[in-house]
Amino acid sequence: MSDNSAELVSNLLTDLYVGGKAVPAADGRRFDVVDPATGQAITTVADAGVNDAIAAIDAADEAAAAWAATAPRQRAEILRRAFDLMMRSAEDLARLISLENGKAIMDARGEVAYAAEFFRWYSEEAVRAAGSVMTAPSGANKILVLQQPVGICVLVTPWNFPAAMATRKIAPALAAGCTVVLKPASDTPLTALAMASILQEAGVPPGVVNVLPARRSGEVVSAMLHDPRVRKLSFTGSTEVGRILLAEAADRVVNTSMELGGNAPFLVFADADLNAAIEGAMVAKMRNAGEACTAANRFYVEASVADEFSRLLADRMSALVVGPGIQEGTEVGPLVNKDAVSKVDQLVRGALAQGAKAIAGGRRPEGEGFYYEPTVLVNVHPDAAILREEIFGPVAPVVTFEDETQAIAFANATEHGLVGYVYTSDLARGLRVSEALEFGMVGLNRGLVSDPAAPFGGSKQSGIGREGGHDGMLDYLESKYIAVQW
Ligand code: NAD
Repeated sequence: MSDNSAELVSNLLTDLYVGGKAVPAADGRRFDVVDPATGQAITTVADAGVNDAIAAIDAADEAAAAWAATAPRQRAEILRRAFDLMMRSAEDLARLISLENGKAIMDARGEVAYAAEFFRWYSEEAVRAAGSVMTAPSGANKILVLQQPVGICVLVTPWNFPAAMATRKIAPALAAGCTVVLKPASDTPLTALAMASILQEAGVPPGVVNVLPARRSGEVVSAMLHDPRVRKLSFTGSTEVGRILLAEAADRVVNTSMELGGNAPFLVFADADLNAAIEGAMVAKMRNAGEACTAANRFYVEASVADEFSRLLADRMSALVVGPGIQEGTEVGPLVNKDAVSKVDQLVRGALAQGAKAIAGGRRPEGEGFYYEPTVLVNVHPDAAILREEIFGPVAPVVTFEDETQAIAFANATEHGLVGYVYTSDLARGLRVSEALEFGMVGLNRGLVSDPAAPFGGSKQSGIGREGGHDGMLDYLESKYIAVQW
């Protein structure tokens, strides 16, 4: 770790953040946070257990009534200050994200701006939680609907966007008047703790936001889901863990929002602007080195342009600068941990064994750190596991299709339904195909769909609910219907 990085880490909160205070775990346990570029520990953080989880719910409960009663304008102004503070320390935050997650500094800078926008967007939404009133069809009485905060929320986030996945939940929850306990991924707890410091400085009262880094995720989250004071779970992570938590939430019928895994198809029709398609492909595949739920996982290219597309993509992928994320100029950082590299390599080996050919990359490089070469695979067998599973790494498998019907069938042949991408210069075709895709989001001639003002989320086994936009706050509000006569 460089001196600069040591200084960055030395100013951070590394305990639990409960009731507005930094506290050690009740049993004193701590765990290492590792730099993926070296495999070495950066620092340690407190490791929450069940007692800490209950203490965090106590704090969230104590703060709940006063926070729900705070004027929406006041909540809005606190969120707006959080946006300003985050942008003021944008560079330090980007370096921190890069240090613990591994992503290239330019991706980390993009994440900070994206993450901060959720504070700004929900500072604007906080004052717009409108209810409604109407005359009942019988004409005899009125139907009055209030929007009220759902209550104490447990937020569970992944490591791949440690800042944005936290703000995408915290901002609408606070805007709606809820108090929260955030359990960040154990690979990236430092960014979440840095968010806690920013929110404290912005004026969030003690107990409204609590942060529990934990290695013992299962027991900590389970204890909270079984506490009768908890009303909501918002989870972002794998479909596998999402299924477990949905089952746990069912015990007490806890309200759930689920942002789960993706398996995004990227369709390129022969009439597409190929240069634009390549630009879009590079963003859709390589943002965060492929470690994104929105990452293009399967490239389906119309047969007549497939060779040219694959060659152009391979040229661009081979030219990428791979190195420590925090180093200026790096375009592809290491993956988050050793297991991530093994999983990617296994999928590539499997595809090669079934007849695929690597026209770029295809290996894990020698040396320290958790790197994988940017890779393009052609002649991929339709049954290859790499087309079914989330790769979560810098690997692009290319498959050809003959016509629009086949392209749609290939794209929809997955249990996932988060996002799909379509490149064509025929707008009617683009809209027709977008409508036929069984995904919550479609990038039409766009390789990036994420926008704090848009409803982000999946269908099928990619999730339940939407984050961002106006819809994102509705996930933290409950309608109360009052039957009135006057
Ligand atoms: P993960 O499911 O392993 O972990 C997500 C979170 O759940 C972490 O905080 C983890 O500590 C916690 N967790 C793990 N097991 C748990 C258990 N048994 N009980 C309670 N909590 C538990 O996912 P990950 O590896 O951190 O993130 C990558 C996954 O997240 C990918 O599948 C990706 O597609 C998905 N993701 C989805 C979105 C989206 O918006 N749809 C966004 C980002 C990432």
